[in-house]
Amino acid sequence: MIKRIAHIGIAVRELESAQEVFQTLLNLRPSHVERVEEQKVDVSSFHVDDTNLELTAGISEESPISKFIEKRGEGIHHMAFEVDDIHAELARLKEAGVRLIDEEPRMGADNFLVAFIHPKSAGGVLVELCQKAG
Ligand code: ZN
Repeated sequence: MIKRIAHIGIAVRELESAQEVFQTLLNLRPSHVERVEEQKVDVSSFHVDDTNLELTAGISEESPISKFIEKRGEGIHHMAFEVDDIHAELARLKEAGVRLIDEEPRMGADNFLVAFIHPKSAGGVLVELCQKAG
């Protein structure tokens, strides 16, 4: 079951300058900054109501974010929906013929288990499912 839009991921080239842009835009300071080694990214989150805007910058050329920016430029990268049971949701979607990028969840930022769904099965949008771990 979907609980909320957990965050919207925005791909940026350079975290500090993007942070300044969004700090002015939202009149907020980032609530959380983290390096996620597994995905080779730095993430800066702005908490807006019950959702976060996650500015995400690659820390190496192999980072999926760096590759995305190379192809499509900066901008909205993905939408994340928090679910109550990520394993059950992945099983349900697989059963429904939805193309999954991750058949098994992995560790993401901020202690969330995450799994991505292919944009070809989601109206051209990269969709992430996430569930708070532990
Ligand atoms: Zn995300």
